Amino acid sequence: MVTLKELHEFAVEEAIKVDPRDKDRIDEILQKRNEKYEDLEGVRKDKYDQNRLKNPYDDSKILHAGNTDVEKIAVGIDIETQDLLLIDRLNEKGIEIDAAIAHHPEGRGLANLHQVMKMQVETLEQTGVSISQAEAIVRGRVDEVRKGVHSGNHPRSVQTATLLDIPYACLHTVADNHVNNYLEKYVEEKNPDRISDLIDILIEIPEYEWALEYDLGPTIFNGKKKNRVGKVAYDMTGGTELSKERLEKMAQSGVNTIIAMHMSKKQIKEAKKQNINVVAAGHISSDSIGLNLLLDKMVDKFNIKVVELSGFKRVTRL
Ligand SMILES: [Zn+2]
Repeated sequence: MVTLKELHEFAVEEAIKVDPRDKDRIDEILQKRNEKYEDLEGVRKDKYDQNRLKNPYDDSKILHAGNTDVEKIAVGIDIETQDLLLIDRLNEKGIEIDAAIAHHPEGRGLANLHQVMKMQVETLEQTGVSISQAEAIVRGRVDEVRKGVHSGNHPRSVQTATLLDIPYACLHTVADNHVNNYLEKYVEEKNPDRISDLIDILIEIPEYEWALEYDLGPTIFNGKKKNRVGKVAYDMTGGTELSKERLEKMAQSGVNTIIAMHMSKKQIKEAKKQNINVVAAGHISSDSIGLNLLLDKMVDKFNIKVVELSGFKRVTRL
C-alpha cells in the first residue's frame, strides 16, 4: 500500500530527473519561494500552499486525502466532477477504486498553471533562441495565462472529490516532462530524414498507433510530407503553448520542424509564414505516453493497479 502523497512526491522527484532545466535552476526557484514564504504574514501565510516550497510543479498537486492508503487508482486525462461520479458509480458496481489521478490540472493546480510555463525559457533557449528573447516571450504569455485561468470554477471538482471522499490528485507537468524527454531521445535515435519518415516512426509508438483507432494519429499541420526534418524542437511540456511570436525567433535560431501535441490556428498560420514544419503528434495520445512512463515507475516501485478512463490509454513498457 502507498498513499497519494508518497506517489506525488515520487512523481516530482522523477520529473526533476527528466526536466529540461538543470537541478541547480530548480533548487534556486525553490530557495526563492522559501525566502518569500518567510516574509509572508497572517492569512496569506496561513493559506499558502506549503507544497510549493518543495515541489516546483504548481500544476501537479494533491487535491484531496493524500494520506489515505491506496492500491487501485483510476487514471484519466481529465478527471472532473462527472468523472468522479463515474468512479463512484464503478465502485457501486464493485470495481473498488481507491483514488483518482487526473492528468490535466484541477483546483489549485489549474489556478497556478501559468507558473510552470516559466520553464519554457529553458526549452526555448535549448532551441537556440537567446535568453533575453526567450524571457520576454515567456513573461508576456505567463501573464496572459494567469489572467485567463483566474476566472475558473477551480474548487468544483475538488469539492466533489471531498464530498465523495475519493483521494484525488493531478499530475500534469511531472508527466509531460517524461514524454518530452522520451520523444527527444526517440526521434534523435531514429533520425528521420523527411516529414513522412517522422510520421512513420511516431506511429511505431503504441499510444500513437492506438490514436489511429480514433483517426487522431500524428499528422502534418504545416509543411509537406517530402520536406526534410532538419533541426527539431519539441513542444510537449511547460504547461501550455507560448505566443506565436516565439516562432519567428525559433526560425531565426534555425528550427525547421516542431513536434507538438497540438497547435492553435494562429500559431499554425505563423509557422506557415516562418516556413517551419509542424507535426501534431496528438494531444491525448502524447499525454498518455507521459503518464505511462511515470506510471511504469510507480507500478514497479509501489505495485499500484491502474484503471484507465477519460481518454487515457494504458500501455506498459515494463
Ligand atoms: Zn494535455
